[in-house]
Amino acid sequence: MANIKKRKVILWTLWALIVPPGFYLIFQYFPPPEISFNEAAAYLIFFILACLLPMNINGVPTYLVQWLTIAVFLKFGLFAEVVLSQITMIIVILRIRTFESLSVRIPFNSMMFFAISVLAGLIFKLAGGQIGSLDLWHILIFGLLFQTVSVVANQMILYIYVRILGEHKDFFSADTIWDFCIAYLVFPLAIILYISETYIGMAALVLLGIPFFTLTAIMRMYNNSEKVNSDLKKAGEIGHQLAARLSADEVLDQFVTQVADLFQVDYAYVIDYRDGKLLMLRRYEDKEFLSIDVEPSKYNEGVAGNAIVNNTSYIFDNQSQWKAITAGYVRPDTESLMAMPISRNNKIEGVLVLGSRSQHAFVHHQLQILDILSTYFAVSLEKAGLIQKAIAKSERCGLTKLYNYRYLDEALEKCMAQVNNGELESLSLIMMDIDRFKGINDKYGHQSGNEILVALAGLLKDIVGEEGTVARYGGEEFVVLLPNYSKDLAMLLAENIRKQIEKHEFLIHNDLEEERNTLLINITMSIGVSSAPDDSDDGMAMIRNADRALYIGAKQAGRNKVAAYTK
Ligand code: GH3
Ligand code: MG
Ligand code: MG
Repeated sequence: MANIKKRKVILWTLWALIVPPGFYLIFQYFPPPEISFNEAAAYLIFFILACLLPMNINGVPTYLVQWLTIAVFLKFGLFAEVVLSQITMIIVILRIRTFESLSVRIPFNSMMFFAISVLAGLIFKLAGGQIGSLDLWHILIFGLLFQTVSVVANQMILYIYVRILGEHKDFFSADTIWDFCIAYLVFPLAIILYISETYIGMAALVLLGIPFFTLTAIMRMYNNSEKVNSDLKKAGEIGHQLAARLSADEVLDQFVTQVADLFQVDYAYVIDYRDGKLLMLRRYEDKEFLSIDVEPSKYNEGVAGNAIVNNTSYIFDNQSQWKAITAGYVRPDTESLMAMPISRNNKIEGVLVLGSRSQHAFVHHQLQILDILSTYFAVSLEKAGLIQKAIAKSERCGLTKLYNYRYLDEALEKCMAQVNNGELESLSLIMMDIDRFKGINDKYGHQSGNEILVALAGLLKDIVGEEGTVARYGGEEFVVLLPNYSKDLAMLLAENIRKQIEKHEFLIHNDLEEERNTLLINITMSIGVSSAPDDSDDGMAMIRNADRALYIGAKQAGRNKVAAYTK
């Protein structure tokens, strides 16, 4: 901060020492010739128009005003040229957005433009150039000299400035070459304007102005359609990438970052519309996701609410257009806003709000592109939801809602890999089998057997909690996978499970009797325990070991017992 302040003071002091006295000296030594008010006004209007309607080349506003300043220089001399180039400087600076503040850019650019004018003007004079000459060769040669000195000096000052700031810049970058080309391409216009103005007066400005501004308009339209094309292409790519995301969170993140990048916005928000409330789901500011400590707002409030209530997209060019309707969250330095409802199956699900610190940051065609993108977004979100549901379903047992064998198998392999690479110190596996379950089915019916399985699943989950993963391994067999559990610890837990099941009373509805009366019954389980790395370093072997412990150590030993695997 202090640094910027110091820079400002130095720049403005230098400016005050150079520019105003410089103006005075130029006026004294190179006094402008007589110029009528009409003539000055015509040049000025033409000039300001050219500054306000820059040609758009490769998306960069390009100010083709040099031909006017050269014509003015050749006719009226240095003073008039300095005045015009200072006006250009102000207009260009106000239109180009950068992060540097105006109070730094104005003195710097003013001095730079001033130095270039003076340098080119002095060299012109020293080399023998004449203001107001009517000799074509003289005009061409000295005009070119003035032009060349201006372009070279401009490039050199920029180069030195960037290097002083410690950034890298090639002296002959593509931009530099482009600048040179444009300077020489418009040079003939300067000569034509200068000569024809001498013979036909102000009519020359009109005659040249018509093709010049028409071409400018055509270039702008061409560039605009090029931009639409390239944005559409990028939107297609974004759509494909969105469709490839498998979870809702990924889809949301990708959508926000990609849209913010495509439209070069400073702020982007995804807002969910549910139960009459607007809830922010993503807050992306200056290329970063921030935590959402924003209260939900009412569905009809603010810029987002407006888009929902009217089911329309909005573009606001500056604060004054949206200031009156805002409630909810907007960064205070926001100028332009764009809001678009996101719908699925004709139902509004949320709103995307984009913000920019610049005025007039958004154009109409972006809304159409956003419309396509938000459709991709809504479809991708739905698809991701379905995929997540399908995955969850494929991992669970339909009856008990516990994880199934498929899930357990993968989880076991993952844990085993962690044991083998040292991430996990130990891993234990508890395998359980209900004792004489066939008898219960035979006596009370399968339905009652299922009731027991469901209740048992709940009981196991309650006992194990966050300590491990409970899965239904087979018919009436269950497994608990316990990361970081030694065999001793696992044996304690297994014994605890056995006891709790033994004393639990399972409520069943006897469906083999005439009347479906309820009754409470007790069951017991036989349990086997194996551990890694003690018993094995392989997932399948671990299951085999627990199974052996279960059958040999518990079932054969009389059931309702816990047994550990022994080699
Ligand atoms: P033990 O394990 O003590 O040797 O005797 P058991 O009767 O439990 O053993 P067995 O393996 O012979 O029988 C298992 C029974 O579990 C067979 C089947 O009726 C029952 N069973 C398996 N899956 C289900 C299920 O999903 N629902 C119901 N109700 N019963 C099931
Ligand atoms: Mg059994
Ligand atoms: Mg069994």
